[in-house]
Amino acid sequence: MSKKNRIVIKVGTSTLTNELGNSDLRTVEQLALVLADIQNMGHEVILVSSGAIAIGAQKMHLAEKPKELRMKQAAAAVGQCENMFLYDKFFGYYNKTVAQILLNADDIIDEEKKENLVNTFETLLEQEVIPIVNENDSVSYTEIESEEKLFGDNDMLSAVVAVLCRADKLIILSDIDGFYDKDPRLSKTAKLISRIEAIDESTYKLAGGAGSRRGTGGMKTKLQAADTATAQGIDVIVTNGKNPRILYDIMSGKKVGTLFVAQK
Ligand code: ADP
Repeated sequence: MSKKNRIVIKVGTSTLTNELGNSDLRTVEQLALVLADIQNMGHEVILVSSGAIAIGAQKMHLAEKPKELRMKQAAAAVGQCENMFLYDKFFGYYNKTVAQILLNADDIIDEEKKENLVNTFETLLEQEVIPIVNENDSVSYTEIESEEKLFGDNDMLSAVVAVLCRADKLIILSDIDGFYDKDPRLSKTAKLISRIEAIDESTYKLAGGAGSRRGTGGMKTKLQAADTATAQGIDVIVTNGKNPRILYDIMSGKKVGTLFVAQK
């Protein structure tokens, strides 16, 4: 077997839900299969998953995406439960145990909390459990309310988790094949950049504003996440999550999506 790798995989709302805002069951099921399989190959897997508000809003039969903070937080509480139920079921099908970890920014800033968190992750991974991480949206409001989103639909959260757990790789699954030289939804001539050696101001200029209707981060927050993780020696790959089998290609070293090269 190749070297044992610790990988963090981030999936966004646009990957986990379909056009109607319902759970995309096929993608969730395939994601569980592929991640279970990657763990079977001897690797360690941590999943960072958003989508709680969108799924909760659907389950509560809200007519539209909630705008008010308290309704968003209520929807997050309902949706988080539904998401974990689905993950538990699909991963359970492949005989895997999952664990839920909900985080806020201060859980990582406070040294004692941070140490506890690292110990929890290490213990779960030792026990071959797959941790599933999300921001604790029902308690904090940084992520869902602020303009400059701290964790940017979990993109930054996934980088923070990757650094905290000293991961070998961070894979960000999006609704697009990778990072382009301009927003491909606005320009037909946009070209995929397969490798970025270093992120600087000129790279940020290529990223448009917030992305899809269901996703919220867009490429800017993915770049910030890649910046944080690569600076700590972690390779970051941004690619399309609609076919989770693409993770097999990544694990076998094939060129997929955009690779942001680790800086040390
Ligand atoms: P997710 O839910 O996966 O986080 P987002 O919708 O937040 O997805 O972000 C992905 C979107 O970012 C793409 O669909 C695209 O419209 C937009 N985008 C802006 N600039 C770029 C770029 N340079 N390359 C690729 N996508 C870009």
